[in-house]
Amino acid sequence: MTEKYAVVVIGGGAAGLSAALVLGRARHRALVVDAGEPRNAPAAHMQGYLTRDGMPPAEFLTAGREEIARYGVELVRDRVVEVTRDDDLSGVRGEDSTGVRDEDFTAARGERFTAARSEGFTVVLAGGRTVRARRLVVATGLKDELPAVAGVAERFGRDVLHCPFCHGWEVRDQPFGVLATTAASVHQALMVSQWSKDVRFFLHTVAEDELPDEDLRRLAAAGVEVVPGEVAGLVVEDDRLTGVRLADGTTHPRSVLFLAPRAVPRTGLLERLGAELHETPFGVYPVVDPTGLTTVPGVWAAGNAIGFAEQVVHAASGGYRAASAIVGDLLMTDLDAAAQV
Ligand SMILES: Cc1cc2nc3c(=O)[nH]c(=O)nc-3n(C[C@H](O)[C@H](O)[C@H](O)COP(=O)(O)OP(=O)(O)OC[C@H]3O[C@@H](n4cnc5c(N)ncnc54)[C@H](O)[C@@H]3O)c2cc1C
Repeated sequence: MTEKYAVVVIGGGAAGLSAALVLGRARHRALVVDAGEPRNAPAAHMQGYLTRDGMPPAEFLTAGREEIARYGVELVRDRVVEVTRDDDLSGVRGEDSTGVRDEDFTAARGERFTAARSEGFTVVLAGGRTVRARRLVVATGLKDELPAVAGVAERFGRDVLHCPFCHGWEVRDQPFGVLATTAASVHQALMVSQWSKDVRFFLHTVAEDELPDEDLRRLAAAGVEVVPGEVAGLVVEDDRLTGVRLADGTTHPRSVLFLAPRAVPRTGLLERLGAELHETPFGVYPVVDPTGLTTVPGVWAAGNAIGFAEQVVHAASGGYRAASAIVGDLLMTDLDAAAQV
């Protein structure tokens, strides 16, 4: 028997859990499928989320899982490997946490409920389970692809950092390096000067003459020292970054290195569903309306799945927005179907 849910949420980070909380509280039967690889897993602390500032990311997710469980939302540790659109999911309705099926709930309101529009999805999990859903929330996040510099991957989220808003306060006034990965890295070098006045901008593979005069003027005004030459690796002592080593053998004492990973959004499932995507300087993301609705009817997306700059608080908010839109959409669909009978 294929289990039927009102909504399957793919991804159980801040975006997915927040959507699940709203769906559960709206009495929908929802399932969260989470592969368990949240983007901020390398970081010891999560900063900048009002009332949760400094909380370990794992603790935040544990609290979120506990909250959704209170409303009967199921969560499984698995990976969605395929999603297809069904032709007919008539009569697929959820069951709220009190055991009242949506059909009964609708009937109790004195409305005749038969079937929603024939729309829905079959969701295949890597573990072998297949479930069906009337609506989907894709909250699969993104993957940070790091530059191939020795030592960078091991230290990412510790003293190799990408986001001054996430970590800047904690490392303020320390000697910063910024690794140029593209000419746009100038922006990062300028931004981090808000947190330290000792910043060296390692041009790495970017030629100095690629930088516009305006950038060079701003770097000079910010007191950022521009260092030409390829970076060969990091100097690490006692499990701490102490320097940046260039290919010519010179070493620059630095205790923090900022860089911009290449964002690789997990859009595979959306692509296969035929969602329209758009290219940004920070990856290819689905086209969404303000609620996160993609161009595929019935499929919403939230969090880093829709944008590189979605911080935890934005992701949680996006999940909320998507879920509340779904609650309205399901209700109106069912009322319209009932009205036509
Ligand atoms: C090192 C680092 C530090 C950070 N620090 C901060 C900070 O201090 N403050 C802040 O606000 N932001 C921080 N961020 C950003 C933060 O990680 C994101 O804002 C947040 O994770 C976005 O939440 P999300 O739910 O969209 O995605 P995620 O948290 O990445 O969750 C997505 C989930 O979906 C799962 N998934 C993916 N594909 C599938 C699939 N096919 N089937 C099932 N599950 C799937 C993943 O395994 C993952 O568990 C940091 C990021 C990094 C890299």
